[in-house]
Amino acid sequence: MSFPDRKIGITTTVPVEVIFAAGAVPVDLNNIFITSPRREEYVQKAELAGFPRNVCRWIKGIYGAALDNGIKEIIAVMQGDCSNTHALAETLQIEGVRIIPFSYPYDRNYDMLKREIEHLADALGVVSWTDIVAWKRRLDEIRALAHKIDEMTWRENKVSGRENHLYLVSTSDFEGDPNAFEKKLKNFIAEASQREPFPHKIRLAFVGVPPIFDDLYDVLESYGARVVFNEVQRQFSMPFDTEDIVEQYLLYTYPYPVFHRIEDIKQQVALRGIHGIIHYAETFCFRQIEDIIMRKNFEGMPYIMIEGGESFKVDARTRMRLQSFVEMLKMRVK
Ligand code: SF4
Repeated sequence: MSFPDRKIGITTTVPVEVIFAAGAVPVDLNNIFITSPRREEYVQKAELAGFPRNVCRWIKGIYGAALDNGIKEIIAVMQGDCSNTHALAETLQIEGVRIIPFSYPYDRNYDMLKREIEHLADALGVVSWTDIVAWKRRLDEIRALAHKIDEMTWRENKVSGRENHLYLVSTSDFEGDPNAFEKKLKNFIAEASQREPFPHKIRLAFVGVPPIFDDLYDVLESYGARVVFNEVQRQFSMPFDTEDIVEQYLLYTYPYPVFHRIEDIKQQVALRGIHGIIHYAETFCFRQIEDIIMRKNFEGMPYIMIEGGESFKVDARTRMRLQSFVEMLKMRVK
């Protein structure tokens, strides 16, 4: 049975197969927020409701976007995403939104994660595990197209960092319509494969949560550097070779201890011929603390940490730092 009017808000990547198996439509509230012409209003709505100054803009934007778009049910990831989700969920609950909790077990325990997925299925009214598995097979066909775009980014140099980011980040909810999204990916692949390779000599990794800046990739390309690895966005696309849906969400590095992410980053940095790493975190985000661990693990590798949050455009200070970073890389790479 399908209930296309039943929209389920998500605040981060969750086992989206379960939502489709329930006949509902996933809506990634991050994507709705950041692509909306009304995104400033969403942030203001949260601030007027009383969200404090020292809470990141993603949280405020999600709050505003959920209420403004009439989302009645939200899956809130209580463990494995954001330390603020708990309170965000409660503030939405008092506005009448149904909150469905989901957790990624910190120790990556298979049985616990399976129970969480089963609990989610019960909460959404899914009756058959077979339907969930069938949806995994279907979504994997579409994910393979996203992986092709990722490969065209670093191997063929025919996809920009921004395009890579946009297509990979959209695999969190398949833009609510897997068939239409599949067509969009196929069209893009056909168009991009006709292009000449991008000329940028400097190849960058972007690690950390997706940026709130919408011009970051263009700014970097104007300095002569292209992002050929978007770490967390790639994780959203589930780049894993497994038939088992529980294992798939165990291999997904983002919700677990940062050390799994670091291993993945190291592999991709070597594979993709990366010259420098940009670590991004939001102002007021607990993930800024993880920079201590990242920095230690990438000693000897050109590395810069930048912070977003005050605006949706790269601020002047960050531009200057990025330009100096790219110039330094150009001297090293020659
Ligand atoms: S950037 Fe950090 S604080 Fe903001 S929503 Fe993401 S994890 Fe939470």
